Amino acid sequence: MKQILVIAEIFAGQIRPITWELAAAARKIKNSPPLKQLPPAIHIIVPADNPTTLSEKIAKQTGIDVIGLQIPELKTYTSEIYIYCLEQLTKKMNPSHILIAHTSQGQDFAPGLALGLDAASIPGVNGIRSDENGLIYSRPAFNNTRNMIVRPTSNRPVVLTLMPGIFKQDGRKGGKPGQVDIRKISFAPAACGKERIQHRRTMRKVCENQALKEAKVIVAAGRGIKGKEDLKAVFNFAQYFPAAAIGASRPLVDMNWIGYQQQIGMTGATVAPKLYIACGISGSSQHLAGMKDAEFVVAINKNPEAPIFRHSDICITADVLEFIQAFLEASG
Ligand SMILES: Cc1cc2nc3c(=O)[nH]c(=O)nc-3n(C[C@H](O)[C@H](O)[C@H](O)COP(=O)(O)OP(=O)(O)OC[C@H]3O[C@@H](n4cnc5c(N)ncnc54)[C@H](O)[C@@H]3O)c2cc1C
Repeated sequence: MKQILVIAEIFAGQIRPITWELAAAARKIKNSPPLKQLPPAIHIIVPADNPTTLSEKIAKQTGIDVIGLQIPELKTYTSEIYIYCLEQLTKKMNPSHILIAHTSQGQDFAPGLALGLDAASIPGVNGIRSDENGLIYSRPAFNNTRNMIVRPTSNRPVVLTLMPGIFKQDGRKGGKPGQVDIRKISFAPAACGKERIQHRRTMRKVCENQALKEAKVIVAAGRGIKGKEDLKAVFNFAQYFPAAAIGASRPLVDMNWIGYQQQIGMTGATVAPKLYIACGISGSSQHLAGMKDAEFVVAINKNPEAPIFRHSDICITADVLEFIQAFLEASG
C-alpha cells in the first residue's frame, strides 16, 4: 500500500505547531478524488533521540499512526543526520507523498531527501487541488508576484514542503489515538561517508516584538510606501488608533527602514490583533502566515488584484500615502 508520510517538525525537543497543519494537508491529499479509490495510509514520522513521548502526543492529537524514529546521535538537528536516517526509513515504506514544513529546517533537508529517494521535489506549496489527471500543487514564484501551478509527471514519490499558515490545523480533539511504533536507526557517518556538518550551537535571536504580539491594533507598512521617510505618515496614521503598534513586511526590514522586531510573518512575529491595517502590503503567503489570525483586516493597496484583498474585511483601492493624507485631513 502507498503511504503519505508526514515528517513532524521538532525543534529543541518540542513539537512545532506546523506539524498539525501537515497532518491536515495529509488528510486532504488522502481524501482527494484521484486517491479515493485506493487511499494511501498516513504515517507521521517523529525523528528524535528519544521520540516516545513526542510520538504519543502526536498520535493522541491527530489520531494518525506515528513512527517514532529513534536516532541516538540526534542530540541537535543537522541536515545530514535527518537525510541519512529518513532516507533509510522512507525508502522501505513505498511513499507516494512526503510532507515537510517549509521552515528553515524543512527547507534545509527536504531537497537532499528528495534526491536520495529519486523523488519529485516541490517546495513552498501554498495550495493543493486535483483534476481528472491527478493532484496539482501551487507555489509562489517570481518574488510572490505569481502562483506557479505544477504537477508531478511520474509515479515517483513527491516531496512537498508546505508553507506555514496555509493549511488549517487539524482540530481533532479526543477520539482514538493513532498507534505508536518506535524504530531505531543509527546515523553511521563512516558507513555513509558523510558527516560534513557538525552542530556547534543555536543562538536565540534577540526578539523585542512582545508589544507587537500583544497589540489590539496593528498598522503595518509594506513596500507600497516608497521611501523610509514615508514611514512617518504611517506613524501619524497609527496615532489615530488607541494603543496601536507599528508592524512591517520583511522588505522594509531588509532595507533597514525599520527594525526586525517590527517584522510580521513567517520569519517575523505572529500576531492576532482585533484590527490589522495593511498599508501597501501585497499579502504574500509568508506575510499572511504572521497575521492570518487578525480578527478584522483593512487593506490599502493601489492594485485591486492584490492578494491581501482576498484576506481583508475592508479593501481600500488607493494610493496609500494619498489615503493617509486624506484621512488625517478629514480627522483634523
Ligand atoms: C523564506 C522566506 C521568508 C519570508 N518571511 C517573510 C516574513 O516573515 N514577512 C514578510 O512580510 N515577508 C516575508 N518574506 C517575503 C515575502 O515573500 C514578500 O516578498 C514580502 O512579504 C512582500 O512585502 P510587501 O507586501 O511589503 O511588498 P510587495 O510584495 O512588493 O508589495 C507591495 C504592495 O504595495 C502595493 N503598492 C505599491 N505602491 C503603492 C501605493 N503607492 N499605494 C498603495 N499600494 C501600493 C503593490 O500593489 C503591492 O501589492 C519571506 C520570503 C521568504 C522567501
